[in-house]
Amino acid sequence: MEKSLYHLRINPEFHNLIPPLTEEERKMLEDSIVRDGCDTPLIVWKGTIVDGHNRYEICHKHSIPFSIEERDFEDKDAAMLWMLERQLGRRNLNSFQRGELALRAKEHLAKAAKERMLAGVAPGPNLAQGSRVSEQLAKMAGVGRETMKKVEKIDSEADDVIKDQLRKGKISIHKAYTGIKAKEHEGEMRVCESCGKEKPFTEFEPPSNCSNYRPICKECEAKAKEEATRAADPSITGIDVKNGQVVHTLVGLPNNPDAFEQLVDMLQNTLDYYISSFQGLINQYQSRMMTDGNTHRLQSMISKTNKAITNLLNERIKEAL
Ligand SMILES: [Zn+2]
Repeated sequence: MEKSLYHLRINPEFHNLIPPLTEEERKMLEDSIVRDGCDTPLIVWKGTIVDGHNRYEICHKHSIPFSIEERDFEDKDAAMLWMLERQLGRRNLNSFQRGELALRAKEHLAKAAKERMLAGVAPGPNLAQGSRVSEQLAKMAGVGRETMKKVEKIDSEADDVIKDQLRKGKISIHKAYTGIKAKEHEGEMRVCESCGKEKPFTEFEPPSNCSNYRPICKECEAKAKEEATRAADPSITGIDVKNGQVVHTLVGLPNNPDAFEQLVDMLQNTLDYYISSFQGLINQYQSRMMTDGNTHRLQSMISKTNKAITNLLNERIKEAL
């Protein structure tokens, strides 16, 4: 379509759906449009912008013509879902922001599914069932399932100051989550299963599996770890990720009933890290590279890696028996 200074409708719901650009991002976009013009068409649905709110403002501010592309959506929810998926695919957002966007998609997915059901059409991705929800949202956001659960809790319980700090990457998801848990148990005491002392909740490591606090206090946990290091059972080796950045040291796990759960936690963290770095990289796989041959190469790398991981587990079992 020809370039012009089109007048388009702005739906505030659409406009507010997407997190605003940072000042720096906005300036970069403005500079580039002023310098080179606006080459990417704005996406429009029935005269309303669905993609390109920032470009629209900038183009009108400087009277720079732009082109538009009409797109058809079944309804408002379908349009909003498309917007969210597009943002998740291309914006440089941190895990919390990605999780937040995926949570917004949840409402629209549920509404869209309900409407399809009322219309007698087969339901789409089923987001109505308990634990599968977090899993699908995590997938959409490209973060681990545990991280997604924490984001959900933060989203519903944290105040705006905390959320803003998270969006700016000033605090970690784990820290915000820990803070919420600490508030939930403010003033409460619990008994450590190891030393038997009654201590406030803050003296216990909060759950990384979102279900429960560790049964032994931080002090006992540290002591147990120290002892395990000293009398390291050579059959218990730590976890170490050879080429990743998350490296768990070669410290034996403490000899307590919770050890397996700790192993599970550490492994889950490693796998979450694997998935989120994979997500970051795979976003760089762009349509111009997508040949059958290239896709096949990536698929076979992935399946080799998955096989190697399974083999490691099987070898470990054989070795230990
Ligand atoms: Zn204790």
